[in-house]
Amino acid sequence: MFWTLWLACSKLYCTWYVAGKFHRGTMKLDITFGLPMLFLLDLFHDVSMFPDSVWDIPQQIVTLALLYDVWFYHGHRLLHTRWLKRIHSIHHNEPMHPSSGLYSHPLEYVLVFVGPALFLPWWLGYSWFVTWLWICGAVTNAAQAHTPGKTIHTLHHEWGNVNYGATELFDRLWGTFQPL
Ligand SMILES: [Zn+2]
Ligand SMILES: [Zn+2]
Repeated sequence: MFWTLWLACSKLYCTWYVAGKFHRGTMKLDITFGLPMLFLLDLFHDVSMFPDSVWDIPQQIVTLALLYDVWFYHGHRLLHTRWLKRIHSIHHNEPMHPSSGLYSHPLEYVLVFVGPALFLPWWLGYSWFVTWLWICGAVTNAAQAHTPGKTIHTLHHEWGNVNYGATELFDRLWGTFQPL
């Protein structure tokens, strides 16, 4: 319970640190869907505080980033198909600002944006410390990606058919990468 709240506060702090303000719509999503997901996972999350060795830390973070992007890249491409475009337009229609990086339709928030980021470390049984590092990194990355004009994700918002990934990996692999 304590760690769940600590994780939630860290999420808020990371966004605020990059964006300098909170986004109302994203806050609503965090409270209505983010927190309940965290509590639900916490109920079944019986793991150690720290990993067995310090070398586990970089290895587990890389594993998380990789698996998350498998899900995020392909989920995001699906969201750009004509059947799901309307759902995804909520994210695209929001003025670009670091604070609204995770603003989206609730289904998208749960299934593509935040849900898998919480589910993965839980599923892999990673320690609280690694889960915390991962969430802080992912949230900071999402906020930074939505700084206007600064990142390749801003090109995704402009062009609509490039740079789908949370990292560059799958964009380079499937030929959708577009440098700044
Ligand atoms: Zn998109
Ligand atoms: Zn975006």
